[in-house]
Amino acid sequence: MLEDKDRIFTNLYGFQQWNLAAAKKRGDWADTKALLALGPDAIIDAIKASGLRGRGGAGFPTGMKWSFMPKTPSAERPSYLVINADESEPGSCKDREIIRHDPHKLIEGALVAGFAMRASAAYIYIRGEYIREAEVLFAAVAEAYKAKLIGKNACGSGYDFDVFVHRGAGAYICGEETAMIESLEGKKGQPRLKPPFPAGVGLYGNPTTVNNVESIAVAPTILRRGAAWFAGIGRPNNLGTKLFQISGHVNKPCVVEEAMSIPFSELVDTHCGGIRGGRDNLLAVIPGGSSVPLVPAHEIWDAPMDFDGLRDLKSGLGTAAVIVMDKSTDIIRAIARLSYFYKHESCGQCTPCREGTGWMWRVMERLVTGEAEYHEIDLLLEVTTEIEGHTICALGDAAAWPIQGLIRHFRPEIEARIGKRKGFVAGSALVAAE
Ligand code: SF4
Repeated sequence: MLEDKDRIFTNLYGFQQWNLAAAKKRGDWADTKALLALGPDAIIDAIKASGLRGRGGAGFPTGMKWSFMPKTPSAERPSYLVINADESEPGSCKDREIIRHDPHKLIEGALVAGFAMRASAAYIYIRGEYIREAEVLFAAVAEAYKAKLIGKNACGSGYDFDVFVHRGAGAYICGEETAMIESLEGKKGQPRLKPPFPAGVGLYGNPTTVNNVESIAVAPTILRRGAAWFAGIGRPNNLGTKLFQISGHVNKPCVVEEAMSIPFSELVDTHCGGIRGGRDNLLAVIPGGSSVPLVPAHEIWDAPMDFDGLRDLKSGLGTAAVIVMDKSTDIIRAIARLSYFYKHESCGQCTPCREGTGWMWRVMERLVTGEAEYHEIDLLLEVTTEIEGHTICALGDAAAWPIQGLIRHFRPEIEARIGKRKGFVAGSALVAAE
């Protein structure tokens, strides 16, 4: 369990004010000029040494991502940092808490990260539904400008750095980095084909890095406390602290900062008051937001909550949005609901996703009622593999994986429902013959 002294987000629950004066008391903006004096390369080296991996889902090494940016941007071709605050994945709500209660961690992080990648500005793209959070962010950015922490000669460093806040308009797909860039440019938010990657051709055609809110907000603390401190938490390849968001059938749903690799059981027992109805009542968990496959109770209980531990269970850490489902859950209906979400949010650019998400949802709905035929289970599985890896962006994969997880772990339940509808008993000769 993470000790209080190792927590980065010391105002996660808003017990103190979010404003600049309170943030400074918590240690934010403490001699930021000295951090910048380390120089861009030393900052990138420190972030690399810390082992920080992207907190938005993909887990790409953050320092390495920053190092892809040009070392000598020109006035004609400036570099940009885009911060992804379009937190829209079902189950995810950690960036919301950072922005609500600790916005200066994000703004200071934007300055430090932007300086390291030699960017001239940061664009924070915030989810349209986060109305109150956007109000806080606008006000916090204004405070930082007024105090000359950002803008011309930021923190007296001689470095000019602007921060812009841009509100989204409710499209989940704008959380995909190139769709976000398109949206910032005033176009319809649709993902771009890659390559070229944003580090080469990003916002307004210029070099751009897109990072998650949490990845950016932890950077100043890592620099102040040292890469070795951050790398001393967790286990190799899965280092540092992490915000977990636990929702669903636990006694006390919450967002909590914990050590990477904490076992699932410790996470829910320590912070959430345990599973509703006790451990034996746990059915399954979606451990990383709706885009990753579910894991059944007996597999997740002792699993380390990190990139490698959940990959070994054919799932993923994702955003660490942990959706807990107890035995009262209609697991087929739960996954069908996610299928509807992905069908609704598909931008429609590529055929496997545009047509496939709707097709999968319609079959899923018939699995819910039991009106499907047995052979459609395999057909559905096959369609998921035709979508997976064959689309412009990862939304196609995200639509396919929850269904794959359902069939992998709950096939007997699906078959039983079809059988019940037909008036058969699952596993009987009649079922086998169908
Ligand atoms: Fe759009 Fe879906 Fe293709 Fe992504 S995978 S570009 S959301 S149609």
